[in-house]
Amino acid sequence: MSGNTTFTMIKPDAFADGNSGAIIKIIEERGFRIKALKLTRLSQRKAGQFYAVHKERPFYKDLCDYMSSGPIIAIILEKENAIDDFRKLIGATDPKQAEEGTIRNMFATSIEANAIHGSDSDENAQIEGDFFFSELEKFYLD
Ligand code: ATP
Ligand code: MG
Repeated sequence: MSGNTTFTMIKPDAFADGNSGAIIKIIEERGFRIKALKLTRLSQRKAGQFYAVHKERPFYKDLCDYMSSGPIIAIILEKENAIDDFRKLIGATDPKQAEEGTIRNMFATSIEANAIHGSDSDENAQIEGDFFFSELEKFYLD
């Protein structure tokens, strides 16, 4: 069982397609509470830092181009068993593999432009939330 906090981003494709509201509605209906939220945009360098774990992968450069191509919405979410339940809700990385009813099944257009991010561990949820939000902005987490 994971902890009660996760971090997500509505990625540039989903924001540009006007799907942010629909995606946030699903997230809230599934019992996640929004603890912090902002509309922002990653620079190429910031995208590279966020996905540094993938820097040796062949898709890294394209991933950084894509993630910095337009606005994103960064969100800290709270729910019991947040990491595991959220990864289930977003579905597989490749939308072709994502089960029906998952956010990626509904909104992703490719393995790269896959609509949404979800933290993969409690430790990364903390690191990723801190990447986007100041202590003041995380006030409501206390
Ligand atoms: P995320 O970390 O964004 O929640 P994930 O954990 O499902 O996604 P990762 O393996 O961490 O998948 O990959 C990070 C992101 O890199 C993916 O969400 C996708 O945008 C991109 N990506 C992953 N694999 C590929 C690939 N084979 N080709 C192109 N892009 C990819
Ligand atoms: Mg990942």
